[in-house]
Amino acid sequence: MPPPLLLRAPCRPRVATAAATGTGGVGGGARHARPPPRRRQRGKPRFSRQSAIKKSFNQEQVVFSTPVPPDPSVAVIGGGASGLACAAALAARGVRAVVFDTGMHGLGGRMATRTVAGDEQQLVFDHAAQFFTASDERFQKLVDQWIDKGFVREWTGLIGELEVGGHFRTIHSSTPRYIGVNGMRPLADEILPESDLIEVVRPCWISKLEPFNGLWRLFENEKPRGQYDAIVIAHNGKCASHLLSTSGLPLLTRQMKRLNLSSVWALLAAFQDPLPVPQNYSYGTFEGAFVRDVDSLSWMANNSQKLFPLQTGRPECWTFFSTAAYGKRNKVPQENIPKVTAEKIKEDMLRGVELALGLSRGSLQQPFYTRVQLWGAALPMNTPGVPCIFDPLGRAGICGDWLTGSSIEAAVLSGMSLANHVADYFASSGEQPEEFAIGLHENLNPVEGHDIGQFPGLDSQKPEVAEAHLTPSI
Ligand SMILES: Cc1cc2nc3c(=O)[nH]c(=O)nc-3n(C[C@H](O)[C@H](O)[C@H](O)COP(=O)(O)OP(=O)(O)OC[C@H]3O[C@@H](n4cnc5c(N)ncnc54)[C@H](O)[C@@H]3O)c2cc1C
Repeated sequence: MPPPLLLRAPCRPRVATAAATGTGGVGGGARHARPPPRRRQRGKPRFSRQSAIKKSFNQEQVVFSTPVPPDPSVAVIGGGASGLACAAALAARGVRAVVFDTGMHGLGGRMATRTVAGDEQQLVFDHAAQFFTASDERFQKLVDQWIDKGFVREWTGLIGELEVGGHFRTIHSSTPRYIGVNGMRPLADEILPESDLIEVVRPCWISKLEPFNGLWRLFENEKPRGQYDAIVIAHNGKCASHLLSTSGLPLLTRQMKRLNLSSVWALLAAFQDPLPVPQNYSYGTFEGAFVRDVDSLSWMANNSQKLFPLQTGRPECWTFFSTAAYGKRNKVPQENIPKVTAEKIKEDMLRGVELALGLSRGSLQQPFYTRVQLWGAALPMNTPGVPCIFDPLGRAGICGDWLTGSSIEAAVLSGMSLANHVADYFASSGEQPEEFAIGLHENLNPVEGHDIGQFPGLDSQKPEVAEAHLTPSI
């Protein structure tokens, strides 16, 4: 069996650097991160040349007070759906953006597709986001553009809920379901428009942020990665907390630390013959199912049917996800999954497939290809419920799915919101920075949804009551 995959850039310990590095004057002793609004004095320059540092929480708040230049640039750290949408929206507002992403194989983060060379055909698996819905007009507009360009299409295959023993109930929904035509990662590659205003640096793991002379300096280990007028943290979890912890952004750090993330195991498996999936005489076999009451399984989807519905004779490439509860109980350091753990997870999940399909133990055909992966920071379990976070004093913001939910739609909207917020802030010449503070103090509340995220519109439509005559398709 191939070794298990590493699904997030490992968080290397970083050398702590004082946030105050080179930022200039220090206004010590302040108890609050946000100073009272400053009155502009006639004849005086709007900004002092130097930045001030204010003490707050465990680290000092960096305060940029140098004027924003007429052609500001923003570093976007993270090239998932939110970071890409943010860079695209910044460019649309005429603001330069550089996107840094750790992805070895491509952009996209949790919009991930794995392609493996097969004997005759490639094996293709969407191995995080499976499909998405659109409930917001702005996102729907974007999706419509992607459809026009041929990057996205509606997924009309049968989906539903699968209960132990092979009891399948169709989700009949008028809400369209969308997929990337060639998978989710290729779609991520298309989110960025061709623009001189956008640059992508990949693979690159930003390990240090340093305020310096009114700019943010970025480093990959000790390698300088440029300096920027503002930064966007477009990733979450431990990596982001580490990155922020000595950056001089205590309010952002605190919000990030409040976030709880689930863990989900993924099993990618290719089968030579079709799986014995329940057959519905009216609708055919299902292509995706939310699995109920099986500890090791919360979702299963047939990528071959979903992505290549017109091609016959392909091996079936299935993506199976565990429940978050199972992921939590069986969590290991994702940088280093012991072989024995990977083997156990595979067995548990294949057993889960047998249970869900109502097959006797050991009767499921052996997959000819498997890969076990851990999404150690899979989905947000709580949210501040704000579109984005922005600290105007530190000229730094956060976007990501977790700001309002756990879906591609939430991630994209958050990126777009932050971009517009930052562009408005730049356009204001930073005159009243406090007006641009957002999301810095909100408490986080639980996120509702499935173990693999939210599907606005779909969830409100209950599956049809049990259908009769379900028999295995083979
Ligand atoms: C198993 C699973 C199934 C899912 N299924 C669905 C689904 O069916 N439908 C749906 O809508 N959503 C689904 N989701 C959720 C969806 O994938 C996410 O909500 C969305 O992709 C999040 O985008 P993001 O930009 O917020 O974060 P991410 O996609 O996580 O992007 C963050 C990026 O930042 C990079 N990065 C991290 N640290 C650094 C650093 N220091 N320097 C540079 N780059 C860095 C990461 O490598 C990553 O590429 C699923 C998620 C998982 C895990």
